[in-house]
Amino acid sequence: MKQQSNERSFKDPVCGMEVSRTTAIEEFIYKGKTYYFCAGTCREAFETEPEKYIGHHRQHGIKPR
Ligand SMILES: [Zn+2]
Repeated sequence: MKQQSNERSFKDPVCGMEVSRTTAIEEFIYKGKTYYFCAGTCREAFETEPEKYIGHHRQHGIKPR
């Protein structure tokens, strides 16, 4: 019996849950990159404000007032 250990997992950028291409319910392509989501509500949240969830270069601990 073969194990599907080659399955890549992705992080749902909204809730932080790990999903794979088979377990992800929703996917969304943003700037040429595919993001996977555990639920439609997560995808919708991402779709509304993608930068909020990606924001690699955003500084931690600094909140705009
Ligand atoms: Zn999620």
